[in-house]
Amino acid sequence: MTPFTYDALPVRVVFGSGTLRQLPAELARLGCRRALVLSTPEQRGTAERASTLLGAASAGVFAEAAMHTPVAVTAAAMNDVERLGADSVVSVGGGSAIGLGKAIALRTDLPQIAVPTTYAGSEATPILGETDGGEKVTQRTLRVLPEVILYDVELTLTLPPGLTVTSGLNAIAHAVEALYAADANPVASVLTEQAIGLLGPALTAIIQDPSDKAARSDALYGAWACGTCLGLVGMSLHHKLCHVLGGLGLPHAPTHAVMLPYAVAYNDAAAPDAMRRVARALGVSDAATGLFALARSLGTPPSLAALGMHAGDIGRAADLAVSNPYPNPAPITREGIRNLLDAAFYGRGPAQQH
Ligand code: NAD
Repeated sequence: MTPFTYDALPVRVVFGSGTLRQLPAELARLGCRRALVLSTPEQRGTAERASTLLGAASAGVFAEAAMHTPVAVTAAAMNDVERLGADSVVSVGGGSAIGLGKAIALRTDLPQIAVPTTYAGSEATPILGETDGGEKVTQRTLRVLPEVILYDVELTLTLPPGLTVTSGLNAIAHAVEALYAADANPVASVLTEQAIGLLGPALTAIIQDPSDKAARSDALYGAWACGTCLGLVGMSLHHKLCHVLGGLGLPHAPTHAVMLPYAVAYNDAAAPDAMRRVARALGVSDAATGLFALARSLGTPPSLAALGMHAGDIGRAADLAVSNPYPNPAPITREGIRNLLDAAFYGRGPAQQH
């Protein structure tokens, strides 16, 4: 066994179907009596359902959460926390709602219950990225880690197929990079293979039938495992590239879905054991081309151009990606990253980027 360091994360996980009904008991277990329920505007209905279930233990609903946790939205939510006397938050939704709960916890240390309805995995990490005036600042602190994650498979049945697959590939990206992380550890590595092996077939099944509960259950479990990996180890080139592209205005999960095969191809020769494990989990012979084929079969956007990126931004993205790079198995070169981005921009496939 190679030497490693492993920090376990203190979080309680409740996983099942119809588990939202356990929300009042979970809140009481934390010793809380007045939770502010958070969501995006689109999921206000689900947040109101959670609020109704909480009854007198609900302080109300704040349904203004937005992608990348803008500090102005957090300030508005903080007003509600104080005005309504909330002693906890319940975040219902994807990474946007959960990010807002974390931002409130950062400022108040209030306990959080996360009720995830996408596969992004933020609920399982001590990471928060906040945006202010177009700039995103990310930090890692246990203060933002939710105390409880309540997974209810029923709540994921409404996630549209397009969001399902991009969100699922976003999750797989956490698992893949956990395998070749500078601080990889055996707990995260075991979870990655299981997660990739479940998520691949589950996403394919959900495309055929979005109400397939067994597939939804596998996907949500896989998302938890992937999010846990993201929380346990540091990420590499793929996450750096997505961070840069997000800063240029590209959408979070679809960008992950497009970029993953290219980042994997870049690291292929430098992380052969990780690539073998990814390929084994997917049941293919090559990790990068296998991930590309999976993404294409799921109908994800074919290129960065299809996500609205301008060709003129490729050079700038390459400059940003090579400045202050994350640790990565393959050396980061301006030319290599430029070729990678060029191939991803035109959707040429990972075999064509060298
Ligand atoms: P999201 O939370 O913005 O959700 C996308 C859209 O889907 C929203 O309109 C939402 O209301 C809707 N939606 C969510 N679940 C639904 C459901 N079950 N049915 C119908 N509609 C549903 O997107 P996301 O991809 O989950 O999260 C992205 C955000 O999370 C980004 O800001 C990203 O930076 C952050 N993130 C953070 C971490 C972390 O560890 N800090 C990890 C992953 C993602």
